[in-house]
Amino acid sequence: MVQIRDTCDTYGAWVHVDGAFGLLGRILPSSSTDNRSDSPFTLGHPLHDSYSSIAIGCGGMELADSITGDSHKLLNVPYDCGFFFSRDLAIATQVFQNAGAAYLGGSFTEPDTITSPLHIGIENSRRFRALPVYATLVAHGRYGIEEMLRRQVKLVRKIAEYIRSNSFYELLPHDRHIGEHFIVVLFRLSTPRWNEKLVEKINSYRKIYVSGTVWEGQPACRIAISNHAVDVDADYELVKSLLEEVPLQLKQESLGLP
Ligand SMILES: *Cc1c(COP(=O)(O)O)cnc(C)c1O
Repeated sequence: MVQIRDTCDTYGAWVHVDGAFGLLGRILPSSSTDNRSDSPFTLGHPLHDSYSSIAIGCGGMELADSITGDSHKLLNVPYDCGFFFSRDLAIATQVFQNAGAAYLGGSFTEPDTITSPLHIGIENSRRFRALPVYATLVAHGRYGIEEMLRRQVKLVRKIAEYIRSNSFYELLPHDRHIGEHFIVVLFRLSTPRWNEKLVEKINSYRKIYVSGTVWEGQPACRIAISNHAVDVDADYELVKSLLEEVPLQLKQESLGLP
């Protein structure tokens, strides 16, 4: 990021960061010893409770000119709440400032203490999207949200560890350590000919929903954790028993067994 910032400064380019998920990663502690004096959390399993790789991955975001982040993902507020931070309010105001139509009322005569969204975005009418975000931030606070994210990351890493230990599967990317996982587990079956059926098969149980992707030219599967109600042990057991069952089922089917 430092290098990108320097280059952009040299050529006059704007740096934008897409922090859809990564923005919230910034609330996790950057050191694995987590000795921040104000943190109420104590260190547990080192593989599950080290966030230094996430801190590095999300590092330098503050050097950007603008940052977007999604609150309908990890903050679990209704769809389509996003954050948009910009260093330059004046640019948005120049572009989107309303000309002052009479029906738009008083906001043109009274000086605004908070810039109205009416003058800095493309929409004139909008739902009060900020309200659920505000309520969530107030209700859970910094540590409530941190605690939720820790549970989510812990579940991801337990699932990743399980996949790595089960010889039917390959954990991807091959060089990613358990402690480097954030909220996605990427994997595939080690038997290529069953791999195309993996996503459909897992979803057919209707217990979890996974999405398919391609990794190094081969089909792969993705588990993404973002639910606020994650219960590490219970959810881990559910995912584990499903992932145990699926390859056995695919094997039976490939042998033509019922
Ligand atoms: C989800 C996502 C988006 C788009 O977000 P929506 O607001 O849900 O349309 C953009 N970038 C990344 C990396 C995302 O994960």
